[in-house]
Amino acid sequence: MYLKSLTLSGFKSFGRTTVFEFPTKVAAIVGPNGSGKSNVAEGIRWVLGEQSMKSLRGKKGEDLIFNGSEKAPRLGRAEVKLIFDNTKKQFPFEFDEVIISRRVVRDGSNEYLLNGSTVRLKDIFELLSKVGLGSSQHHIISQGEVDRILWANPSDRQAMIEDALGLREFYMKARESERKLAETEFNVKQVEAQRREIQPHIKYLKSQADKMKAHESNVEELAQKAQEYAKREKASLESMTKKFVASKNPVLEEIRKKEDEISKLRGEVQREEREFAEVPARKKMNEELDRLEEKRRSLERELGKVEGMVQGARASGAGGSVSHAALTQVIRETIVLVDEIVQKDSYESLKSGLKDIRMKLETIIRSPQNAEAADAPFLQRKDAITKELGAIEKIIAGLKIQKEEDEASRDDLMADLRERERALRDREREVEILKQQIREVEFTELQYQSRVTDFAKFMEDLRLVEEDAKEGSIFENDADRASLLRSVDRLRLKLEEAGGIDPAVLQEYNETLERDAFLARELEDLKKAQESLERLLGELHGTLKERFSHGIEKISQEFNEIFKIVFGGGKAALEYVKPKKIQADEMSEEIEEEKSGIEVVLDIPRKRIRSLEMLSGGERALTSVALLFAMSAVNPPPFLVLDETDAALDEANSQRYGDLLERLAKKAQLIVITHNRETMRHAGVLYGVTQGDDAISRVLSVKLEEASAYAKA
Ligand code: ATP
Repeated sequence: MYLKSLTLSGFKSFGRTTVFEFPTKVAAIVGPNGSGKSNVAEGIRWVLGEQSMKSLRGKKGEDLIFNGSEKAPRLGRAEVKLIFDNTKKQFPFEFDEVIISRRVVRDGSNEYLLNGSTVRLKDIFELLSKVGLGSSQHHIISQGEVDRILWANPSDRQAMIEDALGLREFYMKARESERKLAETEFNVKQVEAQRREIQPHIKYLKSQADKMKAHESNVEELAQKAQEYAKREKASLESMTKKFVASKNPVLEEIRKKEDEISKLRGEVQREEREFAEVPARKKMNEELDRLEEKRRSLERELGKVEGMVQGARASGAGGSVSHAALTQVIRETIVLVDEIVQKDSYESLKSGLKDIRMKLETIIRSPQNAEAADAPFLQRKDAITKELGAIEKIIAGLKIQKEEDEASRDDLMADLRERERALRDREREVEILKQQIREVEFTELQYQSRVTDFAKFMEDLRLVEEDAKEGSIFENDADRASLLRSVDRLRLKLEEAGGIDPAVLQEYNETLERDAFLARELEDLKKAQESLERLLGELHGTLKERFSHGIEKISQEFNEIFKIVFGGGKAALEYVKPKKIQADEMSEEIEEEKSGIEVVLDIPRKRIRSLEMLSGGERALTSVALLFAMSAVNPPPFLVLDETDAALDEANSQRYGDLLERLAKKAQLIVITHNRETMRHAGVLYGVTQGDDAISRVLSVKLEEASAYAKA
């Protein structure tokens, strides 16, 4: 790989596009002061990603763009382009050419392009560090900067050497890994904190979930117990129903029979009583007796009257005709008789009444011619009444006897009735006893009824259906039943006390566990990443340490050799120094911490040099060149740009410098900017830079032969 060409367009004094081709190992750029030679080196530095405006001799990006002159207008943008040969694929691309360009416009914005595509500065750095064109740009030595490496402090010097050794890439990797490691460590802490944070929540959720599980098992147990209870209670109740029927039915049957008997008995008693009172003969006899007694009383009254009349007639002695008084008497008595007949309302009494009336009337028809005749009706009447009274009294006496007999016979009947009534009461008592039995059964039945009600409520409360209560075995005893019911109640109480457990808790618990597991996995991954980063870093540090110490050693050897050539003897070496505290300078008390780094140790022949500061300008330039060349020899960059590195050398040293160039050119392409003819002698191509009155740098190339001729001249 080598640098094929450089194109400057609008960059600084290069107001026109100018191409430098580098077909030979050494190219020299020559020309008068201020013609723009250094602008060429700066162009290369800039396109390779230089960030310091100071090292480009400017203040801002705009300063890099051709600013115009009296004769030429200023430009809007600048571009520098490097074309590398990549046929050996040192750049990791398939292309045979790698083109790197950088552009800047007047607003200061920059753009990098890699084979025409825009890329980031980081990409440019990464790419360049792979081919030994590291960011410190030790391969571009600016004007007056040749001894920079000698003036630098040990730590900056170390950085330059590391860069020259191509360790930048590893440092970049190490830094990247360290950054990643720090990030990973941070993430580990974050994840650990997150896990720590959710632990109490998990604990809480677990307790809730446990409660929930216990709750569920209680629910299950309740369901099972409740069902068992339902089955057994149902069976028990059914068996009780059967028993009730069995114990009640015969008693009820008996009661029914006895009640039938009772009602029969009662009916008989009533009927007998009624019948007794209502016998027609007895009624008739009583009525007859009443009538006869009335009749007797009436006859006795009549008898009294008749006797009175007999006495009256005897006293008056009246004859002849029927006296008015007697007639009136007869009529009156007849009216009484008629009234009586009418009252009696019976055929018999009508008949006997009519007979009486006939007799009365006869007494009038019979002649009352004599006194005796006058008494006769009364006496006759008196006889008749007396007779009739006698007859009635006889009948009454007969009837009374008859009645007494009847009443005697009634006593027997009553005794019989009482017997029946007693039997009735006995039955009733028996029925009462049976009913008591039934009542007892019914009392149990009542209790049973409340159990049935309770059971229905139980079924409803526990949301059980008929299906749940099928095919159970009855409770052996009450204690069994009570104990099962108690455990059901206990479970129900427990569930009630537990209250509403949110089922979302279980979901949240599972989700949180999942999250925790996820975090644990993430933590594991992070720790693995951490470990592998630590391992990688360890390896990188190991590689760096090894390459560094190995590289230092080789540079030191090469440095010593070149030094000997340049100074015709002596010794030079690089030494690694550990960090130390030093006094800033002798005059001050200030103590500075000096970092570790690389120290340059010299032994110039015939001289006792104690410090680099004691070297002459030429000695310093030579020493620097020796060190730079040593560095470039150990790990050659694709090219080196040396801007008047030979400025301070006398003729003799210029010759040695030229020899070194030859030696170095074997390892790297060289672009030298010089006024030194000795140096020009070693170049294969010479570019002459001039500036016309338009202040634009121009280039004219001189071929090898011409170059050497030019150099000789
Ligand atoms: P020397 O031999 O004295 O070191 P040189 O050939 O290296 O000189 P340079 O330093 O490269 O010269 O060039 C400086 C020239 O470039 C100056 O004339 C300066 O005016 C010109 N220059 C610098 N920046 C710009 C710019 N932005 N636009 C135009 N010209 C510029």
